[in-house]
Amino acid sequence: NTPLEHQDPALFDLIQREKLRQRSGLELIASENFTSHGVQEVNGSCLTNKYSEGLPGARYYGGNEYIDQIEQLCQQRALGAFRLSDADWGVNVQPLSGSPANFAVYTALLQPHDRVMGLALAHGGHLTHGHVTPSGVRISATSVYFESMPYYLDESTGLINYDQLERDAKLFRPKMIIAGASAYPRDIDYPRMRQIADSVGAFLMADMAHVSGLVAAGVVSSPFDHCDVVTSTTHKSLRGPRAGIIFYKKDTVRGLDLEKSINSAVFPGLQGGPHNHQIGALAFALKQAQLPEFKSYQEQVVRNSRAMASRLSDLGYDLVSGGTDNHLILVDLKSNGVDGARVETILDLASITLNKNSVPGDRSAIVPGGIRIGAPALTTRGFVEEDFVKVADMIDRGVKIAVDLKARTPGDGKLRAFKAFVTSESFPEIDELR
Ligand code: PLP
Repeated sequence: NTPLEHQDPALFDLIQREKLRQRSGLELIASENFTSHGVQEVNGSCLTNKYSEGLPGARYYGGNEYIDQIEQLCQQRALGAFRLSDADWGVNVQPLSGSPANFAVYTALLQPHDRVMGLALAHGGHLTHGHVTPSGVRISATSVYFESMPYYLDESTGLINYDQLERDAKLFRPKMIIAGASAYPRDIDYPRMRQIADSVGAFLMADMAHVSGLVAAGVVSSPFDHCDVVTSTTHKSLRGPRAGIIFYKKDTVRGLDLEKSINSAVFPGLQGGPHNHQIGALAFALKQAQLPEFKSYQEQVVRNSRAMASRLSDLGYDLVSGGTDNHLILVDLKSNGVDGARVETILDLASITLNKNSVPGDRSAIVPGGIRIGAPALTTRGFVEEDFVKVADMIDRGVKIAVDLKARTPGDGKLRAFKAFVTSESFPEIDELR
């Protein structure tokens, strides 16, 4: 029972430093958030000790009386949070995270080498949507085991090119189309994607990982009216523990019983014992997601994201799609003459954390031409529109420093050697914001 601080001071100290970093910096990574103490309490509880392979009421281990009830509570709350009836929808809350959730759906619904279409990684899609590198390397298991063809944005508008997707789908004949993205600032037209999927006899899966909190609060379109399967991570805008979740129609779709196929793909197909601490923590997060405060929080996330987008536009920045409908913004820095990697590094030195991101037209994912900026984490800390305007001004300052340094250090330069440029003198308002 000796506290960690005394048993392992080295590890304890690193955790304290990370805590301080999270608290004192400005967290703008679109896929991150700050969970509640309740979520952290359950995540660090005795639930981590238990093995419970199987589903509630049908386990391969004894001693699951309470674990069964916790998993059932989590399932009920998952359906409740997205206003789904248990007559129409079922849910598996065991995926260990978002990537395993997606792979479980592919394993359940597809045969090896079946075809899938997902949004290209360079245009905002995720690795698990079938990514193949520009030189043809299949670096995701989803492209190793399945044949994939990406769909793209219309580069002139920054919006998904649904017409081209429809034309390509008619030629490629995918068995599954994936709606969803990691860096798409606009709402998705699920009815249109359903119509395209139906026209070629494909399953339609939505991966709402980024926007699931916004979907729960009803501030962006819901995929549930149009998709056969919906997956999500639970730690982004939903503000739960790190985990994954799969919702499936309680139907036979294209000859497949989705419930049976998906549940058995998760276990025994891909996983062993579920992580009960995650499932318990998710149950708590999903209770919070049904409170009026959660809806207000998500509305504020979108207002903040729009306020930051509008300020950056006023400052002359080129935003992919011209703005945002959701929690994130994608800034194309090509016209500023600097890449996203430099800007990420400079802002990191000022404790402002965001990530470099590919934007349409990029050649390299290592030195991409843009940055992705998200509002969920700082909105959890209570930031409102005027704070986000200040944040936009600080990002602008970071970009200008990066442009200036690029002129002095062509090539990659040793950016960390320029720490002197990003002290609180260059970012005086950071202390006020903290
Ligand atoms: N799907 C999307 C759209 C994502 O953005 C991510 C992660 O960023 C994932 C899936 C994968 O989630 P995880 O990192 O939990 O495996």
